[in-house]
Amino acid sequence: MTRRGEVKTIVIVGGGTAGWMAAAALARYAGRGRAIRLIESDEIGTVGVGEATIPQIRLFNEGLGIPEEAFVRETLGSFKLGIEFVDWWKPGQRYFHGFGAVGQRLGLLPFHQYWLRYRAGGGRHGLWHFAPNFRAAAGNRFGRPIERPGAPSGVHHAYHFDASLYARMLRSYAEGRGVRRTEGKVAAVDLGGEDGFVEAVRLESGERVAGELFIDCTGFRGLLIEQTLRSGYEDWSHWLPCDRALAVPSERVAPLTPYTRSTAREAGWQWRIPLQHRTGNGMVYCSAFLDDEKAAETLLASLDGAALASPRPLRFTAGKRRAAWKKNCVAIGLAGGFLEPLESTSIHLIQSAIARLLAYFPDAAFDAADIAEYNAQTDIEWEAVRDFIILHYHLNARPGSEFWRHCREMVLPERLAQKIALFGASARITRHNLELFDDPSWLQVMWGQGLRPRAYHPLADGISDRELEEFIALAGQHAQRVVSEMPDHADYIAATCAAP
Ligand code: FAD
Repeated sequence: MTRRGEVKTIVIVGGGTAGWMAAAALARYAGRGRAIRLIESDEIGTVGVGEATIPQIRLFNEGLGIPEEAFVRETLGSFKLGIEFVDWWKPGQRYFHGFGAVGQRLGLLPFHQYWLRYRAGGGRHGLWHFAPNFRAAAGNRFGRPIERPGAPSGVHHAYHFDASLYARMLRSYAEGRGVRRTEGKVAAVDLGGEDGFVEAVRLESGERVAGELFIDCTGFRGLLIEQTLRSGYEDWSHWLPCDRALAVPSERVAPLTPYTRSTAREAGWQWRIPLQHRTGNGMVYCSAFLDDEKAAETLLASLDGAALASPRPLRFTAGKRRAAWKKNCVAIGLAGGFLEPLESTSIHLIQSAIARLLAYFPDAAFDAADIAEYNAQTDIEWEAVRDFIILHYHLNARPGSEFWRHCREMVLPERLAQKIALFGASARITRHNLELFDDPSWLQVMWGQGLRPRAYHPLADGISDRELEEFIALAGQHAQRVVSEMPDHADYIAATCAAP
């Protein structure tokens, strides 16, 4: 077996969250014997939003050896147990998508199948009574749960944080491990002769930066992957029609909630993300149903605390590049596509693209099979996240709005339609092993959006009434105990990771 020449120089174009996450991870895992360059333009700047995450980011930080306390302190972050969805099913209704478990499995079946039987028999406790993440969030509590052998807490957490501070932290990490940063604007991209691979990028300063592997982290413009290599864009706006956002910070307000809030609005939704020093807010909306002025008015009228700046407009089209990896260029971050931040998935998709790139890291031959597999896995992952987001919009009973009616009546992707049908029949949840969101996530959103199964799993009748009663009671006690051991969220931050 021979090696066919190594990738010796990696060139990352772009220094937003994607660029610096890629730089840090590549320095950590692929830096030995390789030069890593990062080029970013101060004049162009970064998109500058992106504050809420999902629990997988903990693995990314752990891999880099960044301790949680230092991370939360330096990014002025807070802890996140899930997302509260307000008015999404219908006005006046709210539900929680918590990251952790909802009850425990019993034998072959997930908890909710027994819970449905318990409810059918007149049981009074709702689904979230058994969800430690929800119960902690409802009491504004957070602390690392006490894990006992044989009885895992079931709590999972993520963070809210200032993404520009995170990028700064990663920059110092990456530069400390040899990544060379160049400030400047890429003015042209040189392609090689026959194979059409990227050979080098040329900066306005005249400098030419050559390499074997190029990572396009240039944000929405996709300078290499689209403007140069013409990957093409798969437009998903017929399913996710929101195409604009406004972002505005406001004062910090008490209590410091350990969750993101998403409130449905006339033609989109509003986010609220609590940080240590301020609250991040924004409105995602569909310009075909709502004009910019009305969106700004609604957003500013419903902030907790005074606005600290004017709303910043952003535009996008939901979708993804047809090929995230083309020739010797891999697009990561917004250069690879955009899914609205309803489930805080963009930073995760960056992390997951980096992990996949490491798994399929090329040698200088750039084997077509590796590239095809990378792209196939990317497609599966993105489509599953897309479907999960569509689910929230589609299952609504919001009266009197054209936008929400459109969402209710749209033709769904086949796989999502099947998931809804399956849950609607007997509450079964099915998923591909590359899918990001697990069964409790689908359960909470389907139930929270008002989808009610016609029956529970027939095998849930396999235990006696008494066993069922005990099992359900234990699940409730477990959630109660886990939460009772947690301190107040703000106190926990003050004690462990408050900014000085
Ligand atoms: P950018 O931040 O746009 O960075 C692009 C980089 O490329 C910059 O450094 C720029 O200078 C450089 N560049 C571009 N062109 C050139 C050139 N010619 N020469 C040199 N350099 C160049 N994600 C989450 O996970 N959670 C959230 O809560 C969340 N909320 C969001 C809300 C909104 C409204 C939007 C739009 C996005 C949100 N995201 C969220 C997504 C998140 O912001 C992005 O995934 C993340 O910031 C990564 O952006 P990026 O690095 O790909 O691009």
